[in-house]
Amino acid sequence: MAHKDDVTRTLAACTACGSIYAARQWPDGEIRIIGQDGCSCGATEFDRVEESDDDPEGDPEGR
Ligand SMILES: [Zn+2]
Repeated sequence: MAHKDDVTRTLAACTACGSIYAARQWPDGEIRIIGQDGCSCGATEFDRVEESDDDPEGDPEGR
């Protein structure tokens, strides 16, 4: 069964100023930061930031 609503918690960095936000990545790859529509600088594009800390929930892509 596909999980259409299976979002992944991640971190996202603003592509304009580099600010880091808590974010969710949707199954279609879209990254949306939590709690607001865009960065405080006005940008709305974000790059996913890989967390290098131990991740107790694991990453299904695991490398
Ligand atoms: Zn920004």
